[in-house]
Amino acid sequence: MASFSQSRPAQGIQARRGQEERFYLGVQSTGHVCRPTCPAVKRSAHRVQRYNTLEEARSAGLWPCGRCTPDRVTRPQFALAQAKVMLDDQTPTPDLKSLARAVDMDRSHFQRVFRAAFGLSPKQYALQLRAARFKAVLRASPSVTLAMYEAGHNTPRTLYDRATDQLGMKPLEYRDGGAGVTLSYAFANLPGGRVLVAATERGVCALYLSDGQQDEDLLARLRDEFPRAWFMANERALSVYVAALRRPALEGRPLPQVGLAFHERVWAVLGRFSGTAPTYAELARRLGLPSAEEAVAAACEVPPIILLWPRMAEQGRKPDTGTVMRLAA
Ligand SMILES: [Zn+2]
Repeated sequence: MASFSQSRPAQGIQARRGQEERFYLGVQSTGHVCRPTCPAVKRSAHRVQRYNTLEEARSAGLWPCGRCTPDRVTRPQFALAQAKVMLDDQTPTPDLKSLARAVDMDRSHFQRVFRAAFGLSPKQYALQLRAARFKAVLRASPSVTLAMYEAGHNTPRTLYDRATDQLGMKPLEYRDGGAGVTLSYAFANLPGGRVLVAATERGVCALYLSDGQQDEDLLARLRDEFPRAWFMANERALSVYVAALRRPALEGRPLPQVGLAFHERVWAVLGRFSGTAPTYAELARRLGLPSAEEAVAAACEVPPIILLWPRMAEQGRKPDTGTVMRLAA
């Protein structure tokens, strides 16, 4: 447990903001434990004690404040999780208007909040999801046109070209495991973690974010997705894409301390809650991990990382060609 704050806590809180360090403040006069940003804390300039976990504060006899509800998922977190799940689950993907209405936010405000959290607009996210879905059905579908319809595309002619952009190759080539296609790949360290990016001369065709996996594991994943392609390591050729991935929205953003897979799961389950924002304890129970309240709270604090798929057209450059070699199968 940390020290008693004798000086003006509000200043210290301001200084700490932005570091994304999670802690709680116990207000002796009210017997409540608060989030550091709670107005009740600012009013009581003295007699504030810091706790690293909610559990510590509860053990000291404090109750969660009814104003800042430190034991409950915040409204913006809940709204973002709900919107992300709507985008993830619904076909065709909902538009900005229905998303904003569903989470009870003004449209432009919602757009801003979404972009600030995820680094891309709901529309950009929907396009990426559509590309991912298209890949999945393409592999299973005998007909490229049918796969397009199943993935939510509805005007095949222009979409065939767009799909080629999104896949970095023709849909038929993708369906055939990248047969006859040469992929350049490179690893890079991004603020979100280690990534593998692979591209053809038509554009990016794979983008994997590591959740603790080694480079070889990411490479194995690439071979699984494109079992019949040729590969070459070519950092220089892909530097233009790597630079595009290092966009300002990712810079300086905190990382979840709980592992990406757990983090994703927390947000997915949160987004499927109905009614008001749940408590972290309720969310932990729903996840089947009743004792993981603190980890769940930490996961809720940071929106999931969604990598913006870099586009050839946006870069205006083509990767170089280089020596082609076949990876060991
Ligand atoms: Zn409070």
